[in-house]
Amino acid sequence: MEKGHESGPNTTAIHAGLDPFRYQGAVSVPIFQTSTFAFRSSHEGAARFAKQEPGYIYTRLGNPTVDALQEAVAALEGGRFALATASGMAAVSTLYFAFLDPGDRIVVPGAVYGSSRVILEKEFSRYGVRTTFVDTSDEAALARALEGGAKLLFVETPANPTLQCTDIERAAEMAHAAGALLAVDNTFLSPHLQRPLRHGADIVLHSMTKFLNGHADVVAGILVTSDEKLHARLQFVLTNLGGTIDPHQAWLVHRGLKTLPMRIERAQENALKVAEWLVGRRGIEWVAYPGLPDHPGHRLIPRQMAGPGCLMAFELAGGIEAGRRLLDAVKLMTLAVSLGGVETLIQHPASMTHANVSAEGRHEAGITDGLVRLSVGCEDFEDIRADLEQALAAAVG
Ligand SMILES: *Cc1c(COP(=O)(O)O)cnc(C)c1O
Repeated sequence: MEKGHESGPNTTAIHAGLDPFRYQGAVSVPIFQTSTFAFRSSHEGAARFAKQEPGYIYTRLGNPTVDALQEAVAALEGGRFALATASGMAAVSTLYFAFLDPGDRIVVPGAVYGSSRVILEKEFSRYGVRTTFVDTSDEAALARALEGGAKLLFVETPANPTLQCTDIERAAEMAHAAGALLAVDNTFLSPHLQRPLRHGADIVLHSMTKFLNGHADVVAGILVTSDEKLHARLQFVLTNLGGTIDPHQAWLVHRGLKTLPMRIERAQENALKVAEWLVGRRGIEWVAYPGLPDHPGHRLIPRQMAGPGCLMAFELAGGIEAGRRLLDAVKLMTLAVSLGGVETLIQHPASMTHANVSAEGRHEAGITDGLVRLSVGCEDFEDIRADLEQALAAAVG
C-alpha cells in the first residue's frame, strides 16, 4: 500500500491486532486459556516482573488473546492503548477508582447509565467523592456545573433515553479549562460512528456487551486512551482491583468486532427507515432519533458523529397501559433490555427498567410514561415495520 495510506474501518475491524504468523499461521487468534505463564529461569521471571524483558506473567496482568482485542479496539478508536474489562461497569468503576480521591468532584449527566450513577451515589460518596449531575448537552448548564473545578467530567453521548447529544469538543475545552479530565462513554454509537479521542476526550470507554460484540452473548467492557500516563494509571487500578477480562470472553468479542462496521451500517439504515415510518403515525406523539432533522443532536452529524446510530425512543399515546400492550403484542422484536445486537430489542422503561423509580423521579430523568426504546437490529426492514405496525394497532388501536 502507498505510504501514508490509512486503512478503512472494515479493514481495521478485520485485521487490526491480528498477525497470523505470530501463532503458526492461525488466522483467528488462538484462545490462550491459561491463568499463568511459565518462565524458563528465575532470571527470566525476575526480568519480566521488573519489566526489563517483554513477556507474559499471569492472565490478570496480560494475555495474548486479550492483547489482540485491545489492539483492535484501540485502532478503531484511533487511540494508542486499550484495556479490556470484565464488563462495561468494570471499565466505569476502574475509571472512577483511578482518578477520584476523597474530596474530588465528578460531573456526570443525570441520565448517565443507571449503575454508573448508583455507584457514585451509594459507593464513591462513602469515600467523600462529590457528584454533580447536569444535562451535559446544555452548554450553559455544563459551564455552571464545572465552576469551582472538578476532577472528572464523564459524558455519555447520545444519552439515554432521549438521545440528547453532547458536543465533545466543547465539553473537552470546558473540562480542561476547569482542570478536569474528559471521559466519554461511547457505547451507544461505537467507534464506527464516533471517535471521542479525536475531539479532545482523554479517555473513551465502552460496554462491549453492546455494539462491539454485537451478538447479545457476552458481557465485557474496554477503556481506551492515547495518553501513556493515564493508561498506566488505569492499568494499575484494573489489574490490581481485578476487573480484567477472560481470554475466552475476549476472543468472542474480537470475533464479533470484525463485522462491526457492516452491522452498524445495516442496522442504522433500518433505524432511519423505522424513525421516518414512525413520525406522524397515529398513536405516536414524538420520535427522538438524531437522524431526524428536528432532533437537537442532528447538528453534530457529520462533525462529531458519522451517523445517527441505531437507537431511538418514541412516545406512545396512552401512557403506561399502552406501553404494556405494545410490549405484549410484539412478535419479531425481542422484549429485552440491553442494545446493540443484530436483533431488534424493544423495552418500555416506565413498566420495566424504571418501574420502581417514582413517577417524579422518572419525570426528572426524562422517562415519560409512554416512552419506548428501540435498539434497531439487522433484520429486514419490512419485517421490523410489519411487527411494529401490528403491535401498534394492538396498543393504541
Ligand atoms: C450497558 C451499558 C453500560 C454497562 O455495561 P455492562 O457491560 O452491562 O456492565 C454502561 N454504559 C452504557 C451506556 C451502557 O449501555
